[in-house]
Amino acid sequence: MDKVIKVFSILILSALFALPVFGQTDGHGHSHTHGHDHEHDQKITFPDIPGYHTLKTDFHMHTVFSDGSVWPDIRVKEALREGLDVVAFTEHLEYQPHEEDIPHPDRNRSYEVAMNSAENTGLTVVNGSEITRDMPPGHSNAVFVKDANKLLVDDAMESFEEANRQGAFVFWNHPHWTAQRKDGIARLSDMHRQLISKGLLHGIEVVNVQTYSEEALQIALDHDLTIMGTSDIHGLTDWEYDIPHGGHRSITLVFAESETKQSIKEALVEGRTVVWFKDTFIGHSEYLVPLLEESIRFQSAGYRGDTSVLEVVIKNPTHSEFILKNESPYSFHEDANLFTLEPNSTKTLLVKTEEKRNNVTLPFTVMNAIYAPEAHPTIEVNLKPGVN
Ligand SMILES: [Zn+2]
Ligand SMILES: [Zn+2]
Repeated sequence: MDKVIKVFSILILSALFALPVFGQTDGHGHSHTHGHDHEHDQKITFPDIPGYHTLKTDFHMHTVFSDGSVWPDIRVKEALREGLDVVAFTEHLEYQPHEEDIPHPDRNRSYEVAMNSAENTGLTVVNGSEITRDMPPGHSNAVFVKDANKLLVDDAMESFEEANRQGAFVFWNHPHWTAQRKDGIARLSDMHRQLISKGLLHGIEVVNVQTYSEEALQIALDHDLTIMGTSDIHGLTDWEYDIPHGGHRSITLVFAESETKQSIKEALVEGRTVVWFKDTFIGHSEYLVPLLEESIRFQSAGYRGDTSVLEVVIKNPTHSEFILKNESPYSFHEDANLFTLEPNSTKTLLVKTEEKRNNVTLPFTVMNAIYAPEAHPTIEVNLKPGVN
């Protein structure tokens, strides 16, 4: 079914590009006649969930201190422009292509430079490193490290052990990367099983840059690894993710009790995350469903005049669209059974309940949310319309 939808979307997009009359409309149907319309709304917004702050994080970024193209202050400025709360600097420990120009004897430098430029901005900056090895174990990020230099040792296993001695949170990067897995399928090696059983590996990227791995998600669920998604940005986020036209970088929403580093790390260790990738949410139902319930707000309901058509106002105060599928016995007056809530918008849904009812329950499957491979959560609202 998913595949059919994808093929269908591609056909529609091709049709749009073939017709110049639609040239000013993007995928969301926004007009681009005002070039600066998107400038003010680049800051990503998501509501808190009961008991936790929702923090927008990116735990995988590069600068000129490894193979990135920018100085760390640009990473800080990008994060602030996009409204992120937490970022980690994760230079490749073992891969230093700019070494001749930037010798980089101290592997904590990009973090320190970033810390200075983030001072008094409210952005939390975390020290990290990308342990960069052939498969196995491939690449892994250690974040919340105290001294990155000590991770630079010959034996990969020792590097993981040192990261853990420093109290780091360690996750497997892009396990589905085609440079290391020709078929793009994430698979555990014996070494990964060993790392997991020793408690040295705590999370896994199911999303890296523009890629998503269902197999990595299944590994996360099977082995209780924290579900991670990151930008792994090397160039500029504006260019990689087309942010000026409504795109967004791949991030992880972290549900933390407070905004201290201790609390953020604790949330990661306990797996309290939802990945946001191409307007799709990936995470455990436990956190995904409350996030959807806080994000999709059913504001009021009343019958239209003397008809039995119920007006339901749905507000989406977030930066993402939501694709809802009707699971109720009723049909809609102005929408099909699948419709989209645009980012930062309010929509009136007209529900034909056939007679005026005191109690209307509307379940919706959120098609752009995933809690297991190909599994989408259902949210439900119970409305008590005033019946005259
Ligand atoms: Zn990597
Ligand atoms: Zn990387």
